[in-house]
Amino acid sequence: MAKSMKTVLITGGAGFIGSHLCDLFLKNGYRVLCVDNFITGTKENIRHHISDKNFALIEHNITIPIYLKEDVDIVLHFASPASPVDYLNYPIQTLKVGSLGTHNSLGLAKAKGATFLLASTSEVYGDPLVHPQTEEYWGNVNPVGPRGVYDEAKRFAEAMTMAYHRVHKVDTKIVRIFNTYGPRMRMMDGRVVPNFITQALKNEPITIYGDGSQTRSFCYVSDLVDGLYRLVNSGLHDPVNIGNPHEMSLNELAEYIKKLTGSRSKIVFKPLPEDDPRQRQPDIARAREKLKWLPKVSLQEGLVATIAWFNKNISP
Ligand code: UDP
Repeated sequence: MAKSMKTVLITGGAGFIGSHLCDLFLKNGYRVLCVDNFITGTKENIRHHISDKNFALIEHNITIPIYLKEDVDIVLHFASPASPVDYLNYPIQTLKVGSLGTHNSLGLAKAKGATFLLASTSEVYGDPLVHPQTEEYWGNVNPVGPRGVYDEAKRFAEAMTMAYHRVHKVDTKIVRIFNTYGPRMRMMDGRVVPNFITQALKNEPITIYGDGSQTRSFCYVSDLVDGLYRLVNSGLHDPVNIGNPHEMSLNELAEYIKKLTGSRSKIVFKPLPEDDPRQRQPDIARAREKLKWLPKVSLQEGLVATIAWFNKNISP
């Protein structure tokens, strides 16, 4: 390895966003250490890097401390189940990776003198009473509801990150990621975009939960990782929202995916999951001003690319 080459360690590096970060950092000349225990990540997502000499896979559960001999310049903590269905299936793992996993990742960053980035979430705002959501808003979270395992773990993770910054002077960053989509999401992983696309491509019923009037704002994964890269290289320590402010109802999304896929699917309505947020839209003024970041990929472009990927990878 060339001496000038920097090393980035990515927990959850074989997950959806983590694997796109592996791609980006390798492309930009970094050595990448990908840490994953494959609860929700897959080897498929990183198979194209396995023979790269600047890439190493470390199969490890980050809720257990990790000790490495080599230097690490940046730690990106992205390990966590991230779909509501996944964190309902793995509630204790979700709490542990957000708490113990964050503590261990911060410990590693402190030991190595590395910059640390926490993948936090718009879920810290819960079912928001402020719209759009600014970073100043403290949120409306039910700690004992089914989503609480994810929301509270991430809120704890933010508090832990700020404590390491204040006490140990670790160079920390916190990103609050809003709904993101793109290639490498698992089909039917429970999140709305992979569910709707899989259902539409198979001409099976598209399942809208509730009456479909709830809103979300969807960001394409290449825009997200561009924002993350800028944040890692910034001097910011306060949380930053990264997401696409283009807000729409789930009814509109279902119709749009139906149209783009030319699907014959019927739309069916299912019960709304408990504590499902009514509306969500990021206020991205901070990212725009401090990172000079703006999402560039339109919903149409992003969905067309994602649909093409699912079409190629869908199992019968
Ligand atoms: N949703 C839906 N049908 C599905 C999956 C999800 O209507 O098959 C709804 C879900 O209830 C929520 C929205 O889509 O209102 C976004 O859900 P997702 O699981 O993608 O993430 P969330 O934003 O809730 O964390």
